[in-house]
Amino acid sequence: MNETRPTKSGWIEVVVGPMYSGKTEELIRRLRRAQIARQRVEIFKPSIDVRYGADHIVSHSELRIPSRLVPTATDILAHADEAEVIGIDEGQFLGPELPRVANTLADQGKRVIVAGLDQDYRGLPFEPMPQLLAIAEYITKTLAICMVCGEPAGRTQKHRAEGGRVVVGGAGLYEARCRRCHTVPVEDRAGGQAQAKPAAPPVQEIA
Ligand SMILES: [Zn+2]
Repeated sequence: MNETRPTKSGWIEVVVGPMYSGKTEELIRRLRRAQIARQRVEIFKPSIDVRYGADHIVSHSELRIPSRLVPTATDILAHADEAEVIGIDEGQFLGPELPRVANTLADQGKRVIVAGLDQDYRGLPFEPMPQLLAIAEYITKTLAICMVCGEPAGRTQKHRAEGGRVVVGGAGLYEARCRRCHTVPVEDRAGGQAQAKPAAPPVQEIA
């Protein structure tokens, strides 16, 4: 237990939404404020995400903050001992252990802030973010702007059926869409939680 704050409890904050909704920007904003308050901050992102270089997390608006690459959530535990605040970006790529790891860190009295996609491009829950949302103390849903109609957008549209569920960044491959304008490629309309399962039978669309 950190003797400088003996009675302080930890907690989990989750920031979720579609692509281009400002999740990373919000994560960086919270982490910057913690740094200004002279709290010890450690920041992690999955090693699958090397869009803007390996040693920073960077928002679409070009805010950036130094971070450490980790292959899975359990790798965070080895680098978190000294931290009071833990920032994690792109949580949906860190594997099924992320909720357990976040719980462990919060139980140690740390503030854990995780940003990530809550839905995949089909509009289905993107594990392990649903499990993380269930155990978080604080949840923020960020909305983007629908690129078709201009309404608030909670979903991510994929233009081409390539790369399965996990394609990082991909300029021009994704855009934010509202519920009404969001469409799923016919070959992907099925299978509930099926991940990267080819040739799933199409299901009837609910009109
Ligand atoms: Zn729309």
